[in-house]
Amino acid sequence: MASYEYETHEYDVVVVGAGGAGLRATLGMAEQGLRTACVTKVFPTRSHTVAAQGGIAASLGNMGPDSWQWHMYDTVKGSDWLGDTDAMEYLAREAPKAVYELEHYGVPFSRTEEGKIYQRPFGGHTTEYGEGPAVQRTCAAADRTGHAILHTLYGQSLKQKAEFFIEYFAIDLIMSEDGECQGVLCWKLDDGTLHLFSAKMTVLATGGYGRAYFSATSAHTCTGDGGGMVARAGLPLQDMEFVQFHPTGIYGAGCLITEGARGEGGYLTNSEGERFMERYAPTYKDLASRDVVSRCMTMEIREGRGVGQNGDHIHLNLNHLPAETLALRLPGISESARIFAGVDVTKEPVPVLPTVHYNMGGIPTNYWGEVLAPTAKDDNAVAPGLMAVGEAGCASVHGANRLGSNSLIDLVVFGRAAAIRAGEIVDPNSAVPTPNMRSVEMALARFDGLRHARGQVGTAELRLEMQKTMQDDAAVFRTSETLAQGKEKMEGIAGKLSDVAVTDNTLIWNSDLMETLELANLMPNAVATVVAAEARKESRGAHAHEDFPDRDDENWRKHSLTWFKGDEQKASLGYRGVHMNPLTSHNDGGIDLKKIAPKARVY
Ligand SMILES: Cc1cc2nc3c(=O)[nH]c(=O)nc-3n(C[C@H](O)[C@H](O)[C@H](O)COP(=O)(O)OP(=O)(O)OC[C@H]3O[C@@H](n4cnc5c(N)ncnc54)[C@H](O)[C@@H]3O)c2cc1C
Repeated sequence: MASYEYETHEYDVVVVGAGGAGLRATLGMAEQGLRTACVTKVFPTRSHTVAAQGGIAASLGNMGPDSWQWHMYDTVKGSDWLGDTDAMEYLAREAPKAVYELEHYGVPFSRTEEGKIYQRPFGGHTTEYGEGPAVQRTCAAADRTGHAILHTLYGQSLKQKAEFFIEYFAIDLIMSEDGECQGVLCWKLDDGTLHLFSAKMTVLATGGYGRAYFSATSAHTCTGDGGGMVARAGLPLQDMEFVQFHPTGIYGAGCLITEGARGEGGYLTNSEGERFMERYAPTYKDLASRDVVSRCMTMEIREGRGVGQNGDHIHLNLNHLPAETLALRLPGISESARIFAGVDVTKEPVPVLPTVHYNMGGIPTNYWGEVLAPTAKDDNAVAPGLMAVGEAGCASVHGANRLGSNSLIDLVVFGRAAAIRAGEIVDPNSAVPTPNMRSVEMALARFDGLRHARGQVGTAELRLEMQKTMQDDAAVFRTSETLAQGKEKMEGIAGKLSDVAVTDNTLIWNSDLMETLELANLMPNAVATVVAAEARKESRGAHAHEDFPDRDDENWRKHSLTWFKGDEQKASLGYRGVHMNPLTSHNDGGIDLKKIAPKARVY
């Protein structure tokens, strides 16, 4: 192995990732005077959060009656009763505070006539514990909400003197022999130098792994790097079988048309021009939750009522909406439809198809963002020195299915919670831990191994094989047969990582090596997804198993955990209990537990 020099940096906290979650955590840490570094492989405002269109959920009640208890109920039901009750309460209860903070930091929200934050309807968000009409709960800055949030949080973080390390790629976590995280080893992409960030707390905010699939709305940078690092550190990933397909990706291109389009009155039709959602979800129709709408679209296509030459997609109609509404509330998607589908939304329907959009699963945490290292004795044991927030984490508030606009609020609520918790447990006066040299050397050796990999299969070729397999075998509908086949195929494909070929072995702007490191991170995420899916013999949320069409609470109301051993690509499975208890009792204003007892999930 080549010998490597690296520069050491010491901080109280190192945050990996500068999307909404990473920036909110960074800002909160820095505000409390913790010495905070934020490491990011892309420029902060290019993180995938910038693409979030529709908005951020909080029960402000600006457009009509609302309450955090109703928001919590919708989140519980949306999760198909797999979310952790304490975390879901924390999310719904803290959401208004977190949004007002964003407002005061300077996020330019759209406004009502009276100057309040504008809120729009979104799928699965209702009133009166699902008994009342749809609620307008999703706060929006036109259809560029993520963009607005990201720019504001980046500016505020700079003001608080957080230090940014931009275009630094985190390679691996540095772990002590007894499982404490001591920081992270990074590669500076533009000059090829290596950097060891030693810290008392490491926060993974690396986003999702949508790119494990062939067609995804997420950026090419969404490669599950945090999950990969955690898997290699011997910690589990949780609920990976739950992958959300968004009903309205643009056919062919995969770019997103926000659910806000249906929130503003858009609707779906089949080849007969029928508004078919009225048949499947009589109450909330096109605003049923995403997993439901995606399945209905797939059924229409399968039954021969798809649109287009091959009958393989669906129409989203917006042309009945006033042109002013489209220009004011949905300018970005009008542009996307023109560029990517060649469609003028004021005149014609947009061709759409369910497209991979969000990962409910991820690195298990408690509602403070502390990463869990479950043991046989304690489901909730914490891995010291390590946190995970945002789409990389799994708190778990989205359970088996996330409601639209509940991710942006998850980013800021749990980014903020992680900072509050770090303020309690990180002592600015204590010494930074001395890094475990064995762990540093292992990280360097893995890096060097991939840099000089001279196998038979190219990175792009292997990535495509993985993406096609995931798309075919871990799709909207799954069967025992497709899952068994997918599991076997994915384990084979992941095994080929040891035979990968990297043609460029320089260290400066080496995109070949970077994409190989990303592929090595995608792989355990993909394997965990199909392994956990194959094992789950029920249908719940986004996991629609045709051989087991019903939810089975007695046997399956539990989180799946997937472990990898070292660099091995085979996963072993375990389970942990769902947290059933809320934080606040009903007598103290908490939710009435009877209201959130499991029942059939109809919209
Ligand atoms: C098109 C689209 C629209 C969406 N719209 C909405 C919406 O309207 N409302 C809603 O609630 N949700 C929406 N979502 C979901 C939501 O936007 C995402 O779940 C969320 O933005 C993820 O944020 P994050 O901070 O966890 O990660 P990201 O924003 O993905 O950021 C990840 C960060 O990690 C860094 N990183 C990753 N790996 C490494 C590494 N190895 N080394 C260094 N840095 C690394 C990256 O540089 C980046 O800064 C949308 C998602 C998409 C794809």
